[in-house]
Amino acid sequence: MKTASALALQTCCPIRRNLVEQFAIAARLHAEAVVVLSHAVPAVVDFAESCNAVEQARQECETAGAAFREHVATHGCWDYNPGAPVH
Ligand SMILES: [Zn+2]
Repeated sequence: MKTASALALQTCCPIRRNLVEQFAIAARLHAEAVVVLSHAVPAVVDFAESCNAVEQARQECETAGAAFREHVATHGCWDYNPGAPVH
């Protein structure tokens, strides 16, 4: 027996689903990089290197977010979800 959420997963656009998962992973990695920076010991951690790691993670998050938004905009698949409320 399939649950409602399992059905929603099956019927939504698989590309969109993959892109939003990549976006979520990139956002987590960005947050993690900031947390690492917040715990860094200034005497032993290179400042520029730490900032670069955060910036790189931020850019990857931005790229993933842009890919997700662009896919939804061009594919028009955001509304393709029978479980979503109809406006
Ligand atoms: Zn799509």
